[in-house]
Amino acid sequence: MNEIEHSFNQEMQHIKAALLQGTPLQALELIDEMSASTYLFTTPKQRIELLSLKSKVEDRLGQSSAVIATLNEALSLTQDPHFTSDRLQLLHLLSDQLYTSGHYREAIQYWLECIELGLELGDITTAILAFISIGGIFNAADEHQQAYALHQQVFKYCTHLATPKVYCTIRLYLAADAMWLRQPAAALLYLDEADLVIKQHHFINDQVESHLWRAQSLLQLNRQAESIAHLNQGLAAANSNHYAWGQLQCHLQLGLIYSDSGRYCEAEAALLEAQAIAQDNKLNRLLCDSLNALSALYEKTAQAKQALLCLQAAHSLERQLSKTAAILELEPHILKQLAKLEVRFNLAVSQQENLQLRADHARQTQQLNRLNTEVFQDTLTGLANRRWLDKHLPAKLLKLNEQEPFSILLLDLDHFKAVNDDFSHLVGDEVLRHLGEILQQLCREADTPVRFGGEEFLITLQGLSLFAAAKVAERIRTQVLQHAWPAALKGRTITLSAGVAQARHQDSPASLIERADQALYRAKNLGRNRVELQQGIQP
Ligand code: GH3
Ligand code: MG
Ligand code: MG
Repeated sequence: MNEIEHSFNQEMQHIKAALLQGTPLQALELIDEMSASTYLFTTPKQRIELLSLKSKVEDRLGQSSAVIATLNEALSLTQDPHFTSDRLQLLHLLSDQLYTSGHYREAIQYWLECIELGLELGDITTAILAFISIGGIFNAADEHQQAYALHQQVFKYCTHLATPKVYCTIRLYLAADAMWLRQPAAALLYLDEADLVIKQHHFINDQVESHLWRAQSLLQLNRQAESIAHLNQGLAAANSNHYAWGQLQCHLQLGLIYSDSGRYCEAEAALLEAQAIAQDNKLNRLLCDSLNALSALYEKTAQAKQALLCLQAAHSLERQLSKTAAILELEPHILKQLAKLEVRFNLAVSQQENLQLRADHARQTQQLNRLNTEVFQDTLTGLANRRWLDKHLPAKLLKLNEQEPFSILLLDLDHFKAVNDDFSHLVGDEVLRHLGEILQQLCREADTPVRFGGEEFLITLQGLSLFAAAKVAERIRTQVLQHAWPAALKGRTITLSAGVAQARHQDSPASLIERADQALYRAKNLGRNRVELQQGIQP
């Protein structure tokens, strides 16, 4: 990292810290200073990074038009194909902001671009989120049936691919749709599922939403007290996370309930709170709702003048909003574009599922291979084990023919018990490990050394007659004698004895091993450190 990059990163850390400590104004000052001192950041990448951070700070300050301008500026720097994934994230942020501030038409355009770019980059998650958000716009236009249908469609795709975030987002949207369509039972089911993931991953803002939709569903079921409790919990979570939209919604819903149940003072306090947050954050659609609610409250409490003022303010806002929110006329055009994207979406999802399936399969094969090696391998020496021999020796005997003889060696360390007794079991293990290496080195690819039991080894020798096999045994015996054994053995001579047998046509594994064992027994009796061949009629 060069010096400029280093100081850039340091400055960015300062700004993030200021934002975390709840001093966004200071963060904004730092950003302005940084933008002025151009030597601090020279690459477009850094500029994009700084602008993204700036938009977050402005968002915290409730300056929604500034957020939009900043994100647009950042977006203009992402024309280079190098920055497509930054572009995708910026598009998503921008559409979200446009949506929240009531610019539905633009929001839809950017979300459509999001879907397209997401599919192009294989970022299905972002594409899904954009799809879901477009459904949210139908909700805002009171087209709840349309929204529900769209969300259910996306829900179908999400089952296999869902990240926790997507899993939870789609359920929250479906819950809201069901709530709007006055199907509270369905809404509560979606929320139960979402809550599991929300708790696990501490998605605070999602938690706020969950409380909100739950409160409104419970209200539809006439469970008012529970509804109020959830709104208060939602409010606490929203406060803890400086989540203005959430704070506002909770105040607004509380105000409506209080107003309905004659608790006028509490209602007014809550609604005024909602109004103030809406004004500070330019959340105009909700400001309109708050003003309408206040007006109704003042009417009930016979404060006619106040009621009229609120109503007028609400009306003038509504006129402004309908200019930006004219999405109904766009509807057929959006639906057509969505249908086209859906075909591509389907394809991308099934491709991704395929990849996942293939990855799963590869992982399983790998696991199986590992398991196979573990089952057929001796852990101390790394050689094949008795189980391997039981599996493979019968087949080797069945393949036996005149042209290709087959022999085995049975090897046993001499006076090995004494090695353990004199130097410890650990030193004994070390000797066994060394012997494993020696056998591995002296054997050809086709020969398999097996740890037959404790300090006994067996080697299968494909294509070797009795005498050729005896030569191999002799080579091993000499090698063991000359081996540089660990110093812990203090110069103790290590030797082994061997019995050699060649397979006959009528041999079973047991009869073949038995002949090798008899030869080994003779080698032991004749003084050890020697090789003996099977007796009887030679093959
Ligand atoms: P012989 O020359 O007659 O074969 O004498 P020996 O001492 O080698 O034979 P015996 O069968 O009396 O003892 C074999 C010893 O091998 C006893 C046992 O503790 C030891 N042994 C078996 N498996 C292991 C092992 O995994 N690690 C260690 N360190 N020792 C083992
Ligand atoms: Mg022994
Ligand atoms: Mg033994």
